[in-house]
Amino acid sequence: MSELKPSLLDFTQKELLELIKPSFRAKQIFGWLYHQYAQNFDEMKNIPKALKEELAQKYIVNPMKIIKKEISTDGTIKYLLELQDGKTIEAVWLKMKDILTDEAGEVIQEAKYTICVSTQVGCKVGCSFCLTAKGGFTRDLTAGEIVAQVVNLKRDNDHKHNRKINIVYMGMGEPLDNLDNLAKAIEIFKEEDGLCISAKRQTVSTSGLSSKIDKLGAMDLGVHIAISLHAVDDELRTELIPMNKAHNIASIIEAVKRFPIDTRKRVMFEYLVIKNKNDDIASAKKLVKLLTDIKAKVNLIYFNPYPGTTYDRPSREAMVAFQEYLVNHGLLCTIRDSKGIDISAACGQLKEKTQKDA
Ligand code: SAH
Ligand code: SF4
Repeated sequence: MSELKPSLLDFTQKELLELIKPSFRAKQIFGWLYHQYAQNFDEMKNIPKALKEELAQKYIVNPMKIIKKEISTDGTIKYLLELQDGKTIEAVWLKMKDILTDEAGEVIQEAKYTICVSTQVGCKVGCSFCLTAKGGFTRDLTAGEIVAQVVNLKRDNDHKHNRKINIVYMGMGEPLDNLDNLAKAIEIFKEEDGLCISAKRQTVSTSGLSSKIDKLGAMDLGVHIAISLHAVDDELRTELIPMNKAHNIASIIEAVKRFPIDTRKRVMFEYLVIKNKNDDIASAKKLVKLLTDIKAKVNLIYFNPYPGTTYDRPSREAMVAFQEYLVNHGLLCTIRDSKGIDISAACGQLKEKTQKDA
């Protein structure tokens, strides 16, 4: 495969200042990237043509294009994005809170959004319930390709650069399997002259590579973590997430305890609920025990079925009973509302659908 051209979104502002001279031009270009969401050099009106031509020989601006969009009735928008090498990934625009206006129509509170981004094309972890896993692993995303998902989605939704947004690394791929590019993307998102998305607004979701949780912690980036736990005993967890053999539940819990967590915050544990697998009260009881010494919050997720899977979606009653047990035993617990359920917004599902349609 021929080398991909690096994108200008691959670089921190400091690096761009090294690459592009004079430095005030580098700053202007940085503004074009993150304040105007420029897609190509042509859009950068106040940059001299000669400089643009020179840069265009080595770099591209936007390393992806939107090839499909599905809009859900609840405001969720699922994007299929095509990379330079023709591979595709997904990113999701989630509306978390509606806009609030007073009687005169004045805005009291702007709508709140979260962007769910991918970190790899495919995934190596191979979870038995996950559609992304079915296609195997193709490659890591570059930092610029991670950053570009947010830039493209903000642009497409006309979301101004200075409006706050949250990022969850919960799309396709295992973020900690691509740690260096993930860390760089986190830094680029944080840039004050850029998108200025603080680390507190960024949550890395992991299937639990305990040694990499330690590595991420040691980087001290200030991001939150979410652990995809899904099971309370190693046997079932290994069936669901094969690499649990090497990174078992105990090792994950220990790594979480070592992770630098903002004292006001909690570690999120995601628990994918599958009918007759892990939706019983005995599991809820074990979960309470497992999380005793951790400032945790549990997010219960309905398994989202797709053609060919042997797993089933749990009943609402089972979900609520599970939640009630946790709450009654002192754990914070929410049930993730299935945003975008009508457009199959669980990871990997839009990509799968498009391949079938083609
Ligand atoms: N690889 C990371 C992040 C991406 S997966 C991780 O596993 O945490 C993001 C979330 O999507 C995970 O919590 C995963 O359990 C969930 N998910 C995957 N397949 C799903 C499905 N069919 N239904 C509901 N959630 C699913
Ligand atoms: Fe990879 Fe996460 Fe899917 Fe597991 S759930 S295969 S870790 S993307």
